[in-house]
Amino acid sequence: MSTITIKPRGEERVRSGHPWIYKSDVAKVDARGGDTVRVIGTRGRTLGHALYSDRSEIALRFITHDAAPVETSLWRRRLSQAIHFRDGLHLNADAYRLVHGEADLLPSLIVDRYGDHLVLQALSQGMDRLVPELTQLLVELVRPLGILARNDPRVRLLEGLEQRVELLYGTVPDQIDVREGNVSYVVDPYHGQKTGLFLDQRENRLAAAKYARGRLLDAFSYNGGFALALAPHCDEVIAIDISEDAVARIVANAARNGLANVRAHAMNVFDELRELERRGERFDTIVLDPPAFAKNKASVTKALSGYKEINLRALKLLTPGGFLITCSCSYNVSEGDFADLLAAAAADAHAQISVVEKRMQGRDHPVLITVPETFYLKCFVLRKLD
Ligand code: SAH
Repeated sequence: MSTITIKPRGEERVRSGHPWIYKSDVAKVDARGGDTVRVIGTRGRTLGHALYSDRSEIALRFITHDAAPVETSLWRRRLSQAIHFRDGLHLNADAYRLVHGEADLLPSLIVDRYGDHLVLQALSQGMDRLVPELTQLLVELVRPLGILARNDPRVRLLEGLEQRVELLYGTVPDQIDVREGNVSYVVDPYHGQKTGLFLDQRENRLAAAKYARGRLLDAFSYNGGFALALAPHCDEVIAIDISEDAVARIVANAARNGLANVRAHAMNVFDELRELERRGERFDTIVLDPPAFAKNKASVTKALSGYKEINLRALKLLTPGGFLITCSCSYNVSEGDFADLLAAAAADAHAQISVVEKRMQGRDHPVLITVPETFYLKCFVLRKLD
């Protein structure tokens, strides 16, 4: 069997509970990229088994911490545990994340469920090689009508893997009807962002609906996630997104749900917030759900100023007593950093703000406590006082 020996610093990391070992902490390679390997410590001790990548900075992703070789039964058990956990969440939606990588002990594997169909992403060399085996197991455990691989995220390039969308099993239509609470959507699993929907915001949409009222601005709306969930509680909804396609979907989804109070515009949020402020417009509820501004450590400073700008402007547009539901999905910006920048934005906007709720990604996207990288989505519900 293939083996990799790691350096003492790598062993230290294993002890801290982190499942990733960086290339710089690898001492000796007796394996090929994509192999499931036995990991050996400095004194020749077996530390466990891991997926090996010969291209990524993350050389090893641990699967187990024992000497027993990794067999199909282990994958079956991990998948069924992940499925069982979601069953127990009683999500009131038929679109949700079934497997969330590291947090399900299935590193670099994503499986999302859209009704009777599954959409999968394998984001490392080792996981990519396991796709045929995992597909069989998912068919056995979930009995879906089809499984699609949306293996087009750019991170695959860091692994030396190609970007590819392919049908793995059965049939997957290009329009799937799904339901999230009372809202129904049409999802395009082949071309939609991520695997089709931003499933990680489902519970934040439900939470936000409890505060929504009056005039709502949903900024960075994609296909209307927040706008549609909040519209029944509001008089008027304005949803904006820079993408024309996204805006067309918001309009179609609003019509589909009989929500006549939703208007959608293709605009740049940064420009539009400035324009709304110039016109003296006011909103009782505002949602800010931008894309990750900090994709890596180098872009954090610029990202922080982007987040601060939109939050500052939103706070100015908010009526007293109004709510701002504000999110950041950059894992390079911690919850503490986010709270600090919100405080700075409030001070600059001369607004008194209270934090009503501090939230994160939905429960079907859990965080592995030893891996800070898996806590990426922060969502604050803020209230403007006076
Ligand atoms: N709120 C959505 C998810 C938003 S994802 C939901 O609940 O499903 C982020 C969205 O921001 C994407 O749809 C992207 O098209 C849009 N976007 C990115 N930059 C933008 C900008 N400068 N102005 C407006 N929209 C932008």
